[in-house]
Amino acid sequence: MIMGNSIFFQIASLFYILLLAIVYFSKRRLNSIDNKIYKYLIIVNIVALFLDVFSIYTILNLNKLFLINYIVTRLYVAFAVAWIILFTIYIFYISIYKTQEEYEKNKTKLKRFSIISLLIFICYLILLFIFPMKYNASNGIYSYGMAANLSYFISAIYVIINIGCAIYNFRNIKSKRYIPVALFILMGTSVIIIQINIPSLLLITSMDTFITFLMYFTIENPDMKLINELNIAKDQAVKANQAKSDFLSSMSHEIRTPLNAIVGFSQALSEEDLPDEAKDEVKDIIMASNGLLEIVNGILDISKIESGKIEIVNSEYEFKEIFDSLVALSKARMGDKPLDFRVTYDESIPAVLYGDHTRVKQVILNILTNAIKYTREGYVDFKVSSIVKGDICRLIISVEDSGIGIKQENISKLFSKFERLDLDKNITIEGTGLGLAITKKLVELMNGKIVVQSIYGKGSKFTIAIDQRIIKKQLDKKEEKVEEASSKAIDVSGKKVLIVDDNKINLKVASRLLQGYQVITEEVDSGFTCIDKIKAKEVYDLILMDDMMPKMSGVETLQKLKEIDGFNIPVVALTANAITGMKEKYLADGFTDYLAKPIDKNELNNIISKYLNK
Ligand code: ADP
Repeated sequence: MIMGNSIFFQIASLFYILLLAIVYFSKRRLNSIDNKIYKYLIIVNIVALFLDVFSIYTILNLNKLFLINYIVTRLYVAFAVAWIILFTIYIFYISIYKTQEEYEKNKTKLKRFSIISLLIFICYLILLFIFPMKYNASNGIYSYGMAANLSYFISAIYVIINIGCAIYNFRNIKSKRYIPVALFILMGTSVIIIQINIPSLLLITSMDTFITFLMYFTIENPDMKLINELNIAKDQAVKANQAKSDFLSSMSHEIRTPLNAIVGFSQALSEEDLPDEAKDEVKDIIMASNGLLEIVNGILDISKIESGKIEIVNSEYEFKEIFDSLVALSKARMGDKPLDFRVTYDESIPAVLYGDHTRVKQVILNILTNAIKYTREGYVDFKVSSIVKGDICRLIISVEDSGIGIKQENISKLFSKFERLDLDKNITIEGTGLGLAITKKLVELMNGKIVVQSIYGKGSKFTIAIDQRIIKKQLDKKEEKVEEASSKAIDVSGKKVLIVDDNKINLKVASRLLQGYQVITEEVDSGFTCIDKIKAKEVYDLILMDDMMPKMSGVETLQKLKEIDGFNIPVVALTANAITGMKEKYLADGFTDYLAKPIDKNELNNIISKYLNK
């Protein structure tokens, strides 16, 4: 009866542990210490159970299998003890090290404990094979004698170490990793008491199985296959996103180059004496190409924002300048729409501020353009005021219109990209639905806020608050005068400008735009020719240099130029690579200044007056 019971325990345990082994080993596991020890615990437990069953068989046939029994029974006990030692090493590990990283930093404690345990185990093995083992087969099968007692003794020592670890780590006892320890202490003690009273029960290996089984749920056991798949998917997504960004940036570059020709030539044409009708048409071409340019910029901006590559580039600037240019741009955009454009500028706004003026201008222009776009008649009210606190000036910019307004339920969708509202009414108004998404992101990047109030059918009010650092409260009189003088008439006739660009049309556009200034232009289509000209001691007052040229880029050409003795001609980067932060990059590369393609007439004016009007 009792013998039957004990075999039943072993067989049932074997069944469980084999199932567990299949589940555990069928998946690739995290390469952690937990998993390494656990792997051995499973293997040792399976071998011990097999030996356990086999040793019962050999005891029953002791007269035939005496030698085999001698080895098998001892090996069985040895494996049972090995399991307890391994388990204790695991508990020692989780008690000493909170994380695997902690272990990686200082492995000595665990190493030492493992080596000592190994030495103890070897000594124990030797004694086990020397000491006598006696068998009882009359009322239940079990072994006893010195070899068995030694095994109990070693096991007891390791149970005590386990208790010690639990006490040492009493604070973390709630962690689920300690459940097997608690159970081991509890069950281990009970099993020993039971074994002493009913030695034939042979519960030890089954208890090991139960704890091994339980540990499966307490050690870190993520599904490595799933993690691998997720990692592959993540890599693919990152690559796809990069490909998208690269595509968008190269597409925007490609679109800008022909746009440069369209905008450039039509600007040049608009200054000629043309019949009225033709003048109107040229104006339309300029408007349409500027619209296209805005779309290209919008797509580029949103992809930059999404890939986290957009940066806020702070510098000193005069707010009044931005304000004036915003007013001028809005008036141009209004064209002949019957709108009352009201402008209020708070005179107390500090003159020189520190912030990203390009982005500040961009967000304000966005809401101004929308107000103009979505208002058929009535007014657009543009107000800027400020609150000054210490060296910080909070700019409060509001744009109110008497336009079509936004339905209450649509306000939450307003800032989502590609979301255009009320399309049945707006279908004739051009737009991509990107403007406000970009505006909101940019305002947030500058730690600002944007709020909307709107009554459908009556009008809307957008308010932006952005903090900027104050550099100067007021401009000196002198500075104002210098400003005035420089922006007045530019006399640069007779100055020599060298244009470097591999694209023939771009060369033509630039020289056509420069014609208006009566400067002498020379065009070369590569960095090599440019360097040759400078080496041949040709004299220029300014070089406009494209960056993206085959064989030798603008940046490389500039480096070579700077190596030439006595070279001190200002070199302006002229590029369709007009992403934010590019200006700063080109300046850091050593360019004197930066001009984006399509060339803006005002910016060209600035460059010309800055470097030629001396
Ligand atoms: P877009 O103007 O290119 O369509 P935006 O992101 O700038 O994209 O605006 C999103 C939508 O919000 C617009 O399509 C329009 O329906 C609505 N909207 C924005 N500004 C106003 C405004 N001032 N008045 C009414 N509707 C507006």
